[in-house]
Amino acid sequence: MYLTSKIILHPTPLQAQTLKNLATIYKTEVNECLRKFQLNQKIIWIPYSTLDQNLPWESKKEVIKEATKIFRDCIRNKSNATPTRFKGDYCKWHCDSFTLDYKLNLQVGQQSKLSIEFYADDYQKELLSSGCLTSLKIEKKDKKWVCYIKILKSDPQPYGEHVMGVDMGIKVPAVAATSTGKIRFFGNGRKVRYICTSQTSRLSKLMKNNNYRLIRKMDHKWGNRLLTIDHQISKSIIEFAIQEKISTITLENLAYIQKRIDSGKKISTWSYMRLKSFLEYKAQKHGIKIQMINPHNTSKRCPKCNRLNHSSKREYKCACGFKSHRDIVGAINICNYSSSKSN
Ligand SMILES: [Zn+2]
Repeated sequence: MYLTSKIILHPTPLQAQTLKNLATIYKTEVNECLRKFQLNQKIIWIPYSTLDQNLPWESKKEVIKEATKIFRDCIRNKSNATPTRFKGDYCKWHCDSFTLDYKLNLQVGQQSKLSIEFYADDYQKELLSSGCLTSLKIEKKDKKWVCYIKILKSDPQPYGEHVMGVDMGIKVPAVAATSTGKIRFFGNGRKVRYICTSQTSRLSKLMKNNNYRLIRKMDHKWGNRLLTIDHQISKSIIEFAIQEKISTITLENLAYIQKRIDSGKKISTWSYMRLKSFLEYKAQKHGIKIQMINPHNTSKRCPKCNRLNHSSKREYKCACGFKSHRDIVGAINICNYSSSKSN
């Protein structure tokens, strides 16, 4: 399993200039490789010696890898007729060309080295010492030099023996039901909707006045707030799963529903894909498996007698006497599905 650690670099002005130059060389060389591929209409062999001598040897490997990937994507999307350019503003290093102690030591060019001071918090330090460092990427982001280090970690042992179903929705962001019979609600859909609607009305006002400076500023903050909310929800779900000794979390595969919502509305208030990806990433870190199932009838089927009922608003009632919140029914059914499958 690969994890990424993010540390902040504090290069001297001279070091910063070197990093900037390397990013420019990296971009130029990737584009040069791409041009050669496009000219030949296929991926051709490019000797390392033809690439800029100022690039560390191992970074040349990354240049070719980057160009190959972009070219393959172009062919896959059948857009090889229009030449694509690489727009990244970073440089990559392979594990043989950097070391990390109290400073980050990078090989630059064929002979010289840079020793850059960096800052990492306790969490990042722990992450860095938990596995094998494989590669890194340095880029300037919001006036800061950021370094992303890829770490190879052995897969953690599965944590527990129980299963949990999570029903994700707009009004209630997530409801979890475990095979041990516990139910928990996560997040507040109203809060998300409030943020979205208030921001949309502000946005339309600013659009009328052509105030693009404020629009740019606003969007940024708005996105961050939604991002934070999804981080908090996924974090609490995983904490709950660990506490309940869950080995597998089951989710509904709703990717196509998200698409339908996105095409119908200008601004989607629902971030199913993002919450799902946060959950997957955090679950993997703790050795919890994520399983996807077909959402067919999960919110209609009675968990007690299997009858199909339509719930009125949020309340679910069945002829057998079963009564519950609609999202709880969904979560229980998703959970039951995974327990019946594993038994
Ligand atoms: Zn029933």
